[in-house]
Amino acid sequence: MRYIFETPAITSLPIIGREERFPVRRVFCIGRNYAEHAREMGAAVDASAPMFFCKPADALVTDGADVPYPQATSDLHHEVEMVVALQSGGMDLDAAQAAASILGYGVGLDLTRRDLQAVFKAKGHPWDVAKAFDHSAPMSALRLASEVSPDADTQITLHVNGTLRQQGRLGEMVLGVAEIIVALSKLFELKPGDLIFTGTPAGVAALVRGDRFHAQLHGIAVLDGRIV
Ligand code: MN
Repeated sequence: MRYIFETPAITSLPIIGREERFPVRRVFCIGRNYAEHAREMGAAVDASAPMFFCKPADALVTDGADVPYPQATSDLHHEVEMVVALQSGGMDLDAAQAAASILGYGVGLDLTRRDLQAVFKAKGHPWDVAKAFDHSAPMSALRLASEVSPDADTQITLHVNGTLRQQGRLGEMVLGVAEIIVALSKLFELKPGDLIFTGTPAGVAALVRGDRFHAQLHGIAVLDGRIV
């Protein structure tokens, strides 16, 4: 095949302990998956109607690269989230198939132009411009699911300039990982290479140029970076 211009590079993530990288196909995100965070946003939680949105794969910031402060906002918010990486997929998966589809876990930031999101929410407009902008998803290396098993007591934290901003336990999630995958597979045919951001605990707040962030999915993944 010959193309009219050079094809874009595939976004990929390092895998701890492996030479191969994880080629990213799509990035799905679930909203309002921790009750405390939904409350701080003034939103209701409905476990029977999970709310999903997407980011383009090339919105990921990988390998510890600097994150440029985005255009068109003066209220860039951090949302620290466990991220699940899929090695297989399908439609209408059951819980066992969902669990088996997981290659590994990482930690990422679902960066959000909160000022724009507030306007879109008020108008009932889509969130894409608030969520799916360039460099909106800094992401750690992946840890293989064969090496770790996050459970209800696994902690997720975000420090900014050394100060704790967000802290949660995976047991606080409204939908667990397998339930998220089951729900997504009723809406999309999931594929190897898909990533899922699994929602943020409470404590979302603004980032500014010069901030250094340190996100941890304790015992599993670490992400360090800087807003420039
Ligand atoms: Mn989020």
